Amino acid sequence: MAPALVIDGRAIAAEVRAQVAAGVRELVAAGGRPPGLATILVGDDPASAVYVSSKRKTSGELGIESFHHPLPADTPQDDVLALIDELNADPAVSGILCQLPVPDPLDGAVITNRVRAEKDVDGLTIASAGRLALGLPGLRPCTPAGVMILLEKAGVELQGSHAVVIGRSNLFGKPMAQLLLAANATVTMCHSRTRDLPGVCRQADVLIAAVGRARMVGRDWVKPGTTVIDVGINRTETGLVGDVDFAAVGEVAGAITPVPGGVGPMTIACLMANTLRAAQLSAVA
Ligand code: NAP
Repeated sequence: MAPALVIDGRAIAAEVRAQVAAGVRELVAAGGRPPGLATILVGDDPASAVYVSSKRKTSGELGIESFHHPLPADTPQDDVLALIDELNADPAVSGILCQLPVPDPLDGAVITNRVRAEKDVDGLTIASAGRLALGLPGLRPCTPAGVMILLEKAGVELQGSHAVVIGRSNLFGKPMAQLLLAANATVTMCHSRTRDLPGVCRQADVLIAAVGRARMVGRDWVKPGTTVIDVGINRTETGLVGDVDFAAVGEVAGAITPVPGGVGPMTIACLMANTLRAAQLSAVA
């Protein structure tokens, strides 16, 4: 078999960012205010600080205003909630995100759910999840939304196809399955209790792995021609690897995303797209 098409997430994310930048210019040219993204970072977790700083940097590059709120790790929950209430009411702020995880004893779910659905650019509130499950318009979680764009750009026909998602987290697996279902795929969700996981995966036309176990998906899990999307990020002695054995699976898959350079770059690009969308919707509200 010919080697798989490697889906270039970096290039596709750059296209999404360019579209967002154009959308921002259009909004401003029409007399609207630029989109604004408020970020809240509680505590000094180094990985969270890196994520927030890269989101702010990308915002700046695309003409999105950035409002950053670093808070000490011992900030009382009520103060975080009061800040979110202020941002919910601020017309300059189109989108709000509080970087997770938050330090103990703060409750990340309570904090996340304080964000108004119209400003929920992470798409992770109960309201946004409910809208997605009910097929109502709303802001969608960034990583699964990014995967949908990758599938579209790779020319994958989802209608009637069998999509298998490994992982059922609220952050990724569940919304991913909902988006695939909305695109008329037949969806199977797998998790740690799934019996004969390789056998289920072999039935997939589209296989999406989001587990967090380095190179778990091997060549014999994949039917020839399958599109394989690797969401996993695992740090190993040899560097970052995904949940899929890229070299082996690439010999049999029809198309495959690399790690790094596949799904990863799409997440921030889709956060920017959500921020623009929130601003556009508030401009017409
Ligand atoms: P998570 O909340 O830890 O969920 C992992 C899922 O994998 C769970 O549903 C779990 O099943 C399932 N699982 C664990 N071991 C398994 C096994 N042996 N066989 C089958 N299923 C198994 O993780 P997550 O937040 O969804 O993230 C998953 C991976 O994607 C991580 O590597 C994360 O870093 C990466 N990720 C990347 C991006 C990105 O931007 N590229 C974004 C989000 C996540 P149970 O429910 O039964 O426990």
